Amino acid sequence: MIREFFLGFIKIHTLYHASKGGICGIEIIKELKRHGYAVSPGTLYPTLHALERDGYLKSRMLVIHGKRRRYYKATKKGISVLKKSRERLRELVEEVME
Ligand SMILES: [Zn+2]
Repeated sequence: MIREFFLGFIKIHTLYHASKGGICGIEIIKELKRHGYAVSPGTLYPTLHALERDGYLKSRMLVIHGKRRRYYKATKKGISVLKKSRERLRELVEEVME
């Protein structure tokens, strides 16, 4: 139940960081942890794959410090959804935080 609520936040948060430059799964997990969310790879990776399948993210394999990792970047479509989500979030947050 709670997981379902947070999944949307996790998607928007991932899009946000992926719009700032390439980010890999492990970095997203660390970043979520910093915000207080414990998300397992088993939850995150299917989410990343779905976002890529739907055209919001684009990935490529990079070798960094000898490790092969898949890096994700937001596509134009992803950035446009992020902008819309931001407006909607702002409105809802303003009401909820009242
Ligand atoms: Zn963050």
